[in-house]
Amino acid sequence: MTARRIPIRSDLTELVGYHSPQVEAEVRLNTNESPFELPDAWRAELLDELGRISFNRYPDREAGRLRQALADLHGVSPAEIFCANGSNEVLQCLLLAYGGPGRQVALFEPTYALHRQIASLTATEVVTGWRTPDHRLDTVAVDEVLDRARPALTFLCSPNNPTGRADPPETVAHVLDRAPGLVVVDEAYGQFAPTTALDLRGPGRPGVDRLVVVRTFSKTWAMAAARLGYLVADPEVVSACELVVLPYHLDAMTQAAGRLAVRYLPAMEERVALLTEERGRISAALGDLPVETWPSDANFLLFRPTDRDATALWAALLEDSVLVRDCSTWPGLDGCLRVTVGTAQENDRFLAALRRSLQES
Ligand SMILES: *Cc1c(COP(=O)(O)O)cnc(C)c1O
Repeated sequence: MTARRIPIRSDLTELVGYHSPQVEAEVRLNTNESPFELPDAWRAELLDELGRISFNRYPDREAGRLRQALADLHGVSPAEIFCANGSNEVLQCLLLAYGGPGRQVALFEPTYALHRQIASLTATEVVTGWRTPDHRLDTVAVDEVLDRARPALTFLCSPNNPTGRADPPETVAHVLDRAPGLVVVDEAYGQFAPTTALDLRGPGRPGVDRLVVVRTFSKTWAMAAARLGYLVADPEVVSACELVVLPYHLDAMTQAAGRLAVRYLPAMEERVALLTEERGRISAALGDLPVETWPSDANFLLFRPTDRDATALWAALLEDSVLVRDCSTWPGLDGCLRVTVGTAQENDRFLAALRRSLQES
C-alpha cells in the first residue's frame, strides 16, 4: 500500500527554489564572497573560545555579548540590534513580523532575488517597481509604486545586487518620506559604498524609526561559512523580530565568531580597500572589451557581452575553470553576467579567460 502524498502549499507550487549552483572551479567568482580569510589571530582566538563553550547548555538567547560588540561598532545601543543566521534570516523575520497574508512588500527590480523569494515564502504580496535602464533607483519609480500600493515594507538594496550601485542618501530619504511602512535597506555590501543609510539615523528626522538597515558577515567580514547577519533599527523592530524567531536560533559558535571578528575591523577595511582597487582594475579592463558594463559600489561587476550569448560565454569561462554568475534569465538583466572581485591573481585569470572567450568566433 502506498501512502498518499500530501501536496505542498498551493501558493508555493509556482516557486522555484533559490539556487546558486555550487559548481567546481578553480576560480570561483560567482557568489560575492571575500577571497581573503580572516586573520590567523581571529582563528586562534575562536578555537580557544570554542574550547570553553558549554555545549550541553543552550546558547545565550539574547546574544548579549555579540549585540554589545555590534552596538559599539555602530555607536548604537544593543536594544537596536537583532542578529540571526545570515541576513537572509533577518529578512525572513522582518517579513514574518510585518508581512504575511493581506500585506504588501515593495521592491525595485532588478534586485536581490531573495527579497522576492522570502516574501513569497511568507505569503506577502510583492509590488514591483523598476529601476532605470542604467539600474538607478529614481524617485519617479518610487512614487509610482507608492501611489498604487501601501506596502508594510519597502525593500531597498544598497549597493544593489546584482547591478552594483549604491542609492544616494537623498533617495533613501525620499523613500522614507513616501513609504507608509518600514524601509528596509539591505547593505550586504555597505562597506564598499561611499554612503550608508545608517547616516540618516539620529534625532530629528521624521520617520527614522521606520528605517531598518541590514548587514551581513558573509561578504566584507569574510565569514560566509558561519551564517551571521543583523539589523540596526528602532528597539520596537528588534522586539518584533524576537517575537517571530525560533528560540535559541543563533548558536554559541556563531555568536563567538562574530563577536571576535569585529575586533579585526582594520583587517576588514584593508580587504575592502584592496578589493575596491581590484574592482577599478577589472572595470577598466572591461572597458576595452566588447562588453557593456556599469559602475559598481560593491565587490562585483555586472557586464553584458555585446556580440555574444551570455550563457555561452558563461560556459566558455567555466571551460577555463572560471565560474561567474549567469544573471541572463533574471528580471531586467537580459544577456548579463556578474563577476565577483577576487584576488589579483583570480581577477587576472578571469580577464584572460574572458579575452580568450570573446576572441573565439
Ligand atoms: C550576499 C547577500 C546577502 C547575504 O545573505 P546572508 O544570509 O547574510 O549570507 C544579503 N543581501 C544581499 C543583497 C546579498 O547580496
